[in-house]
Amino acid sequence: MNRTEARHYKKGRGGRVDCLLCPHNCSIAEGRSGICDIRTNLGGALYSDIYGRVSSIAMDPIEKKPLYHFHPGSLILSIGTVGCNMKCSYCQNWHISQNTAASTSYYEPSAVVRSASREGSMGVAYTYSEPIVWFEYVMDCAKEARSAGLKNVMVTNGFVNPDPLEELLGLVDAMNIDLKTFRDETYKKYQKGRLKPVLDTIKRAHGACHIELTTLIVTGINDDMAEMREIMDWIASIDRTIPWHISRYHPSHRYDAPATDIAFIMKVYEEARRKLDFVYCGNIAGARNGTDTHCPSCGATVISRRGYSTEITALDSGRCARCGADLKIRM
Ligand code: SF4
Repeated sequence: MNRTEARHYKKGRGGRVDCLLCPHNCSIAEGRSGICDIRTNLGGALYSDIYGRVSSIAMDPIEKKPLYHFHPGSLILSIGTVGCNMKCSYCQNWHISQNTAASTSYYEPSAVVRSASREGSMGVAYTYSEPIVWFEYVMDCAKEARSAGLKNVMVTNGFVNPDPLEELLGLVDAMNIDLKTFRDETYKKYQKGRLKPVLDTIKRAHGACHIELTTLIVTGINDDMAEMREIMDWIASIDRTIPWHISRYHPSHRYDAPATDIAFIMKVYEEARRKLDFVYCGNIAGARNGTDTHCPSCGATVISRRGYSTEITALDSGRCARCGADLKIRM
């Protein structure tokens, strides 16, 4: 185990520590860990148990994060650890997020950055499990990556306190943020999170870096048209050009309801397209709708996608090559 003293905590009474990294604000007794299971109070100081502990490392298409408007068609070295500050009963990555540090290998930040540079990656993506709880290591890696001219990408649940978020935004170039539901009671019941901190993260990150949002539509939890409308209306009230990925759930972890009805996802897709400029459907094998990027001004297909294969068809420096509209696609 590679422990390092955590940041964003304060010492409490009777040897307890208060972790200030995420909105759980865990008060942790000596010898115990917080809700994420990987930040531990040892002798009245808080330690991260997973500094440098990598559970998965792979070169992925950036589209797999998913980020469709950030250097489309490029590859990014993707790393993840274990642990999460949410506890989704249907977690699609539970074998990683709920695993322990014993299942990982140690990588120095410099080794990750060297590997990314050597293999022609456009950057480093912190993904697979929740990078917020890997804060100290993500910050160190991200500093080295930026010095080496690489991009930093986070795929996150957005459940983070404002101060650490500001530090991350100083180094992160793009985020895909989960907006799992628009119901606070659902966040509490199924994810052990809360809605408002996630909305606050999205609002703050918008403009500070490139963002895209993902909603996994889960049978029996959020497959409700009224709720989906509230989400699309809220995103539109921030910026209708923010890409929204609606993704199909499959039975996983402790939740075994059938996979999401594809017809429902397509209904959400059709309605969202009237309110948002860029809506995408994910996790649907062989899907033809909801994968390509169309110019909202002239309708041209500017990026065509089949699975993770991407073809740029009518894009010029982030603008539509046919009508010149600025699509805010980072190239
Ligand atoms: S990061 Fe972990 S220990 Fe810290 S407040 Fe969040 S869940 Fe608790």
